[in-house]
Parts: sequence; structure tokens; C-alpha cells
Amino acid sequence: MAVSSVRRRALFAAALGVAIPALLLAVVAVLLTFRIVRSVQNDTVRYNRYLGQQVAGSFELELMDHLRRSIAPAERVARDGGSLPQVMEALAGEGSEFIGPHFVPVDELSGYSLIIVEAQPLIFAAGEGVRQGQYFTGLLLRQPDGNVIGTGGWWVSPEDFVRRHFDSVLRERLPGDPRMYGGIELTRRASIEVVDERGRRLGRLREPGDLQTSRVEPMAGPFEHLGVRVAVAPDSPVVWIGRFLALELAFIATMGLLVLIAVAFGYRYIVRQLELAGMKAGFVSNVTHELKTPIAMIRLAVETLEMRRYQSEEEERKFLGIIDRETTRLHGLVENILDFARLEAGRGIFKFDRVDLRQVAQSAIESLRPRLEHLGFGLEVDLPEDLPLVRADATAMTHCVLNLIDNAVKYSRQRREIRVFASARNGWVTLSVSDRGIGIAPGDRKRIFEKFVRLENGLVHDVRGAGLGLSLVDQIMRAHGGRVEVQSAMGEGSTFSLVLPVAGPVADERPESASARTGT
Ligand code: ADP
Repeated sequence: MAVSSVRRRALFAAALGVAIPALLLAVVAVLLTFRIVRSVQNDTVRYNRYLGQQVAGSFELELMDHLRRSIAPAERVARDGGSLPQVMEALAGEGSEFIGPHFVPVDELSGYSLIIVEAQPLIFAAGEGVRQGQYFTGLLLRQPDGNVIGTGGWWVSPEDFVRRHFDSVLRERLPGDPRMYGGIELTRRASIEVVDERGRRLGRLREPGDLQTSRVEPMAGPFEHLGVRVAVAPDSPVVWIGRFLALELAFIATMGLLVLIAVAFGYRYIVRQLELAGMKAGFVSNVTHELKTPIAMIRLAVETLEMRRYQSEEEERKFLGIIDRETTRLHGLVENILDFARLEAGRGIFKFDRVDLRQVAQSAIESLRPRLEHLGFGLEVDLPEDLPLVRADATAMTHCVLNLIDNAVKYSRQRREIRVFASARNGWVTLSVSDRGIGIAPGDRKRIFEKFVRLENGLVHDVRGAGLGLSLVDQIMRAHGGRVEVQSAMGEGSTFSLVLPVAGPVADERPESASARTGT
């Protein structure tokens, strides 16, 4: 009996009631984490940029400082009225670090830019007049009367300067400069690189832990084609928060999946239990009916015979026949119920032996022949004499065959023909029972082997049954290492086949294999 659609919908709604809040919570947690991560990343980007600018400025200051100090003696010579050669001589002594000295006469100064360092005009070259990759840096030279006669200075290679002063700027100047306090704090944990316009590194302080939050800050003045990249160290918060995010996402995804699986399983389990409960209720009423009907018929027949309320001997035989048929049916039903209970409890014990399925089928047919003839069934039997033996419990096999033939009888209408046939192939023996009955729809061919299942076809109310027969056959066959198969065409008939492996040679039989438990 199926679970009503209202109940199913209520259950589904309850399952959604658990799954949706869980998923929403997971989504909120993920969004919150993303926000936190993004804010930490943004802060880091800002700090890195700030520090990058500080570092860039530091190099410029360092260069200016050097120039100022180097040029001071020459400036003094110029101020004291020294001649140009004397000024140039003073420059040569001081600026050994740079290329030069070099004098630019006043009429050539138009191509040079001026920058002011503490009120002193300092000149550096840009655009024309610039030597390959170098800048001219120097001071304006004036005569005592204040007339500018030109500039004296050196060609400077910014890359060389950075390389040479990288360590001193980052380890001494930057930490020692009180204006760069924030930078000092961060330099302890940061990786700092100076790169040229092609991304080549001129110097590096520590390995970066993560480049995502770093940007290249352009340098200015003489260093304008260089840049400073500040990145976080491997143990910085933004690095481990990134790892934490990956971990949290994996955790939330796993939890979400588990919740969904648990809800889906719970839902399926409850639906199945409700279905089973419904089926059991149907089974009890079925069985009650199944037991009561033959008992009532037997009682009626016995009373009739006792009171001799029959007219002829033929009628007497008819009542005896009823008693015989109904007791057989009762016996079969009780056997099915007991077997089923045993197998369900895992107590189905089989006595395995080398069995000839041909004999099994024949004895089952013989016991049913009178009933089949009485009901007008034509029976065709095709059992090869050389059918290999199988290892099986003969009683259980008889039971299976009886169930299949009983079904063939029950589910046939006008075309009352039953065929029992067997064959052996590739180490398997197949015993089939075929009918020309109502057939089974493709979608039902698996379901009919479930316990308590009776198909809602036109015959279900006319034909007696408890929905146990095929489930038993299936369990017995599995316990034998075999299977039951069904082929069917709607309105044309069905063929049920018992498939068992051929028994091994006698020597292979082990003593303990004489009995086995079913593994249902
Ligand atoms: P039942 O006691 O109802 O016969 P079974 O387990 O033997 O229980 O069979 C389950 C259902 O399978 C039956 O109710 C019937 O609908 C279907 N079925 C079984 N055998 C046949 C058959 N030979 N032809 C058509 N339908 C069948």
C-alpha cells in the first residue's frame, strides 16, 4: 500500500524545513567569512601600498642626501670664487659613487628639470639629454655674483643606486626615520622588493607569503621607471585567513552535504517505513481473509458430508475435492508464512544436497496436476533427462516451483496454458514456468519480488494471495547463490525462471556445506 500523497507532502515539507534553514545558515556563514576575508585583504592592500610609498620615498631621500653631501665641497669652492676646473676637481673627489663629474653649461640647461631639495635647486635630467638608463644629477653652479654658469654633477644609474643602497635604506634609513613609524612596524613582517619596469627584481627583503594583496607602487623623480612591491610574510593574518577560508568552505560544504544526505535518507527511510506499515496492515487483512475463506469452505464441506446433504456420489466427491483443495491451499499459505518468518529472522536453514531439478519439477507438477486439470489448464513439460545436478535444498526448490505454478494459475484468464521447461548453459541450470496470463508491466517487474507487494491489476481482488510467494522465491534463490528472473509481455503472459549454478563434482562437497543459513 503506498503512502498517501498528503502524508508524503507533509514529510517532504518537514524534510525541507530541516534542510533549508541548514543551507541558509551555511550560506550566511560563507558570506560572513567572505566579508571578513575581504576586509582583512583590503586592509592589507592599503597597508602594503602605504609601506610601498614610504619605501619609494626613502630611496629618493637617500639619493638626495648622498648628492647633497657629495656636492657640498664643490659648492663651497664655487661660492668662494673657485674656477670651474677647481669646482670640477672637488666634485671628482666626492661623488666617486656616480659617473662623472660632468659640467653642463648654462645654455644647455633647458632640457633639464629642477627639483628643490631644502631650498637648493637640484637638477636632474629627463627626456632629451638623458644617457641610456641614467640621469644626470647635480647642483646649479653660480658665480660669486649669483650668475648661474651651469650645473655640475654626475650621471647616476637609478638601478645601480637601488641595488647598492637597498639594504641600508630598508634596514637603517626606514626603521630609523620617525616619520615612517607605521612602515617600521610592518617591515618586520613584510616582504619588500624593488622591481624595474619589466618586473625584474633589483633587491628583495624576505620571501613573500602571498602576492594577492600586493601592488607595485611606482617610484618618482630619478627612479620613476622603478617600483616597490610590498607583500605580506608567509605567517601574516591574511595568509592564514585565506587558508582558514578554504578550510571553512570545505567544512561547510561537507556539513551541508551531510545534512542533505541525512535528510534525504531520513525522508526515504520514513516513507519506506510508512509504506511497510501500510503493506503489513494490508498483509494481515489479506492473510486473515486467506485463512478464513478455506476454513469456512472446509467447514461447509465437512458439515454437508456429516449430515449427508448430498444427492449423488459425484457430489460427495466434489465436497471431498473441496476439502482436499482448500487444505492444500491452507497448507501452502501456512508454509509460506512460516518460511517467510524464518527467513526474515535469519533462521532459514537449508539442507543442501545434490538435487535433480527435473525431479523437483516433476513432483511439484504431480501434486498440482489434479487441480490444473480441474481448472482446465493445458500443461506442457519439457525437462531434459541429462539436466545437470544443482546444489540445493530439494524441499525449498519444490516450494519455489509450487509458488511459480500457483501464480501461473492465479494470473491466467482465458488462455490456460502452462509450460514448465528446463535447460543448462555455461554452468547454470534454468528451470522456468511460463503462462499465457495477464503479464506484468515493465515498471513492476522488480517490485513484485518485494514482500507484501501485490499489483493493483484487475485480478487483485478476485485472486487470493498474501504477496509473499515471489519474495520467498527470491530469498530462497539468493540463499542458494542463484536468482529468479522474469520475462513478460502485457496480456501475453509471463515466464519466471529459477537460475542455479551447476553442482561441483562430488569430491568438492565439503561436510559443513550440508547446511547453511540464508543471508537475506
Ligand atoms: P500473491 O500472493 O499476490 O500471488 P506473489 O508474491 O506470489 O504474491 O506475487 C506478487 C504479485 O506479482 C502478484 O500479486 C501479482 O500481481 C504478480 N504476479 C506474480 N506472478 C504473476 C504471473 N505469473 N503473472 C502475472 N502477475 C504475476
